[in-house]
Amino acid sequence: MTDQRTLVGEVAQPPAGPATSAGHLLQLLRSNAAGYSRADLLEITGMARSTLYERLDALFAAGLVYESTPLRAQRGRPPRSLRFDDRNKLVLCLEIGHTHAGIHLLSLGREVVASARIPVEIGNAQEVVVGQVVGEALRLLDGRQPVGAGVGLPAPVDPLHRLGLERTVLAHWDLQLLQEAMESMLDCPVLLENDARSMAVGEVRGPLDSLVAVKVSTGIGSGIIVRGSLVRGAHGAAGDIGHVRIPEAAGCRCRCGRDGCLAAVASGRALLANPQFAHYGTLRRFVDAADEDPDVRAAIAAAGRVLGRALAAMVGTLNPGRVAVGGLVGVLPSFLQACRQQILTDAFEPSLVDLEIVPADSRKATAVGLCRLVEESLYAPERVEQLLSQHGG
Ligand SMILES: [Zn+2]
Repeated sequence: MTDQRTLVGEVAQPPAGPATSAGHLLQLLRSNAAGYSRADLLEITGMARSTLYERLDALFAAGLVYESTPLRAQRGRPPRSLRFDDRNKLVLCLEIGHTHAGIHLLSLGREVVASARIPVEIGNAQEVVVGQVVGEALRLLDGRQPVGAGVGLPAPVDPLHRLGLERTVLAHWDLQLLQEAMESMLDCPVLLENDARSMAVGEVRGPLDSLVAVKVSTGIGSGIIVRGSLVRGAHGAAGDIGHVRIPEAAGCRCRCGRDGCLAAVASGRALLANPQFAHYGTLRRFVDAADEDPDVRAAIAAAGRVLGRALAAMVGTLNPGRVAVGGLVGVLPSFLQACRQQILTDAFEPSLVDLEIVPADSRKATAVGLCRLVEESLYAPERVEQLLSQHGG
């Protein structure tokens, strides 16, 4: 549970052997959407028939496995396929931003069933923000019970929710309390994760993907996936690039209290803080003006170039196959173009081979990532074992 790198690939091969646990059997079934027949499972795991059937019975009883009718007719009695029962299981995905919260209800197949967006002020008391977000989530759920919920936060999130790491955006928040309050209000397990990191998980296309996802909205954050594994770092701060000092920001005061941070010049907050753009009032109105106002476009491009400098260092360090840039500011063509150009100028050639620099799927990626993380956590073998022992005992 405290592993720094959580597997997010979908074709992970679980350990098989005569003593394969029910949790690992479920992991095996989850890895193949078509499912496996009983004969397949006997062959793959090498288990004794009686042990296999006993574990499958427990998974059936817990509603985690179902038997599906084979599609093609075969001679004799066709083998039935056993599948992970992902039907009618909903995950609530909450993206809490600086000024808005996105609330999405997803199926385990990653289909968005319902969505809402409400204004929030992240500087308000934690109970106020949680009350607003959960209130809207309950309205959206309309009596349906999610199997779990994921919450994306615009700040470093420690897997163990240790306090004291974040002193800027969520300085006054207690993540342990946040999780407990949400679990009791929603009556399901709740997982907390950094928003950009959730977005990175949502951008994973293949089991061995290496990618960096960057979110540029009010603040700046990034998520790192190395060969299918999410990198959280020793204390959950991996990818928190907004407060890296860069020469272009020398003398610029950052919200964190220091001078010279990347976020002090390239974030939405920094762009909007320019007195020249004060009349736009909100970041949304500012980015919407990019088409008509050449000064807005120029400022956005300059911010993209500065981010590109920082990302070139990441590209050189991690050699990702893809850099996905999202967020209200990040997806703007003028920002992305300038950012891409700077990465290509600054990074060393070997790290640029086949590198894609693309807009992130801003509409869905964070919610999809949260949904995937919730599924991985809910159906992790040890958690399934725990669930079955409660179920059976
Ligand atoms: Zn800073």
